[in-house]
Amino acid sequence: MIRIQRLTKYFGNFLALDNVSFEAQPGEILALIGPNGSGKSTIMRCIAGLMTPTRGEVIVNGLPAAGKTREWLSYLPQKVSFPESLTGQELVSFYARLRKLPPGMTERAMEISRLNGFAQRPVHEYSAGMLQRLGIAIAVMPDAPIVVMDEPTAGLDADGVCRLRDLLSQMRARRQTVVVSSHALAEVEALADRIAILVKGRLIACEPLHQLRGWLAKRAAMRVRLREPKREACEAVLQAGAISAELIGTDLIVVAGAEKRLEILHALEREGAHIEQFSTEEPTLESLYLGYTREDSHNQSGVAASDRL
Ligand code: ADP
Ligand code: MG
Repeated sequence: MIRIQRLTKYFGNFLALDNVSFEAQPGEILALIGPNGSGKSTIMRCIAGLMTPTRGEVIVNGLPAAGKTREWLSYLPQKVSFPESLTGQELVSFYARLRKLPPGMTERAMEISRLNGFAQRPVHEYSAGMLQRLGIAIAVMPDAPIVVMDEPTAGLDADGVCRLRDLLSQMRARRQTVVVSSHALAEVEALADRIAILVKGRLIACEPLHQLRGWLAKRAAMRVRLREPKREACEAVLQAGAISAELIGTDLIVVAGAEKRLEILHALEREGAHIEQFSTEEPTLESLYLGYTREDSHNQSGVAASDRL
C-alpha cells in the first residue's frame, strides 16, 4: 500500500505540494487528477523515491519511499524516453534482465505493447502512441506490488485506453496497488476506484467516483441569456444561493445546485432582468476546479478539503 502523510514540497520558494495526505490500498486503482502544474508528477516522483519531500512522509509497503521500496515498484514517467537506437524487443529484454524476471514475462510484455512488425525496429521510428504502449508494457511487466503511472493515457488511441483498462482490472484482481494520473477526469473515470483531485498542490477531494459525481451535480452550471445584462444580476443570483456567477457577454454563467435554479431565476426577474434563453450544462471537472478556487478565496478558514465535500 501507499500512505502519503502531510506531504509538502517546495522548489525554492515555490510551494508545489501543500500538506497532501491520502492512501492507496492493495487491489485499488487510485486516479490522481488535476490541471497542469497541480503537482501530480511531483507526488508520483516522491512515491517512486526519485524526489525527497520537503516535509511529510511517503510510505510504500511500510517503508519510507527510497532505495529499498523501489524494488517493489514500477514507475511509468510522464515522458517515456528510451535509448533511441535500441529496438522495442531489446528494451523489453533489457528491463526484464534489470528486474531479474523469468523469460516468459517478456513475451507477455511484447504482446501488451502490440508493436507487431515494429518489435525489431529502433524506437526512434516509433510514434508517440507506440512509445507509450511500450512504456506501459515495460511498467506492468514485473507485476510489481506497487505500480505508479504518470499520465498513462497520453498518446493512446481509444483501443489503447480500452486495453489499459483491461490491464488495470488485472492488476486490481492481483491486489496490486496502483496510482495513475491524468489532467482530465474523462480519461480515467472508467479506470479508477477512487479519484483524488489536486489543485495548486492541494488535495481537494479523494472520493469514489459516484460520490464525486454527487458533488459535481450540486455544482451544475446554467447559462442564462439576458437581453440587457447588468452587473447587478450577478449579485442577485449569489444572494439567491449560487456558488458562483459570471457575466460573459450577454450570458450569465451560474454554478448552483439544481434545487436552487428556480429561486435564482425568480431573483433575476425581481431584479428586472429579461431572460431570453436558459440552458443547463453538464458539470465538468473544470467547473469543479473553478468552483473550488472561488470557494477557496471566500473561505480561507483552513477547513480540511474533505469537510467541504
Ligand atoms: P503536474 O504533473 O500536475 O502537471 P508537476 O508536479 O509537474 O505538475 O509540477 C507542479 C509544479 O511544480 C509546477 O508549477 C512545476 O513547474 C513545478 N515543478 C515541478 N518540478 C520542478 C522542479 N524540478 N523544479 C522546479 N519546479 C518544479
Ligand atoms: Mg505531470
